[in-house]
Amino acid sequence: MRTQVAIIGAGPAGLLLGQLLHRHGIDNIIIEKHTPEHVLSRIRAGVIEQVAVDLIDEAGVGARMRRDGLVHHGTQFCVDGVRHRFDFRELTGKSVMVYGQTEITKDLMDGRAAAGLPTDYAAYDVALHNIFGAHPTVTYRGDGRSHQVECDFIAGCDGFHGVSRKSVPSGAIKTYERIYPFGWLGLLTDRPPVSDELIYVRHELGFALCSMRSPTRSRYYLQVSLADDINDWPDERFWDELRLRLDGKANADLVDGPALEKSIAPLRSFVAEPMRFGRLLLAGDAAHIVPPTGAKGLNLAASDVRYLSQALVERYKENSDIGLDHYSARALARVWKAERFSWWMTTLLHTFPDGQFEQKMQSAELDYLFKSRSAAAAFAENYVGLPF
Ligand SMILES: Cc1cc2nc3c(=O)[nH]c(=O)nc-3n(C[C@H](O)[C@H](O)[C@H](O)COP(=O)(O)OP(=O)(O)OC[C@H]3O[C@@H](n4cnc5c(N)ncnc54)[C@H](O)[C@@H]3O)c2cc1C
Repeated sequence: MRTQVAIIGAGPAGLLLGQLLHRHGIDNIIIEKHTPEHVLSRIRAGVIEQVAVDLIDEAGVGARMRRDGLVHHGTQFCVDGVRHRFDFRELTGKSVMVYGQTEITKDLMDGRAAAGLPTDYAAYDVALHNIFGAHPTVTYRGDGRSHQVECDFIAGCDGFHGVSRKSVPSGAIKTYERIYPFGWLGLLTDRPPVSDELIYVRHELGFALCSMRSPTRSRYYLQVSLADDINDWPDERFWDELRLRLDGKANADLVDGPALEKSIAPLRSFVAEPMRFGRLLLAGDAAHIVPPTGAKGLNLAASDVRYLSQALVERYKENSDIGLDHYSARALARVWKAERFSWWMTTLLHTFPDGQFEQKMQSAELDYLFKSRSAAAAFAENYVGLPF
């Protein structure tokens, strides 16, 4: 098979890129390791920046998000039992959209199917060849057959554990990483959220987050030890622990219920540089990971895709390689700012082992954030998303 762009991975990055390229008349195929059902079963992001919302609209799949998504004009911090609110509109004139990653993925999959675009799910043994040459290829197995795709470019959108980044010679890539000494235990339940805004909780027992996916579906997180097993956390223990970390009002308003999904995720900061290797271009989690505290992972995948789709459109419509040549530098400039913000929020709100000095620094930083309008505005500006 021959196409212009072979996209590896049908997560948000790959699906959004495929849709944007199609709207500009650029042929693409998506090759995905898992089944669509598996891809849709992963419960992840929920907070979408305005610039990412606009991009989803531009891809032509924003209607359901506009109808069902929840526009949030602020967020709250609960520190040692006291609530503080940041008003995004007043501080930045902007807001964010709460709409589940699963829903965005579904909208993109539906849009792709409606346009009749090719997607090969359940592909295994995916391999990239000749990425530094003029004619790269992708081979894989599926449906009991071997497949080969010839293309002009390969977009590596296959997440942190994918094959694309691993296909680059080790001397050509530099990586930066920080692993945090705790994880997030997440629980999804069909119960109304405790508040109509997210509540970020800093407590001596550990961080907690009250989030949501809709007016009837809530998502809660607890900071837990990396040594913990999911079987250590029956639903009852989860709710008891969450109540200990919440303030009185949240305790009174919390409606608990059975878990629809429950999992423990490690927290990591990671960046691979550069993001272009010949005709292979990385986007999204394939190139970088942020701890979820700043709600930036999906949003960064969207901003990479914006730069990459524009670069490919320039290549095919204007015969210009300028966008491709600058793709890595442009994307990384935004990636590092989101890395800084995610690291800062994680450091600010979690409990660190043996961290008496760090705890004092957290208290000083939080006090400054609550009392200085400039500090609050800087937080809000990063949270709602920096401009492209
Ligand atoms: C608990 C949690 C909460 C989060 N909360 C937020 C949030 O609130 N806001 C936010 O912006 N982000 C959040 N994130 C991060 C966000 O989910 C990711 O950044 C986002 O999924 C990245 O999209 P992606 O398309 O780059 O990668 P992925 O979603 O990982 O998609 C990659 C795809 O590639 C496929 N693949 C892998 N290997 C191969 C292969 N060898 N061949 C073919 N296909 C392959 C995978 O199956 C997958 O479908 C959260 C993440 C977690 C874990």
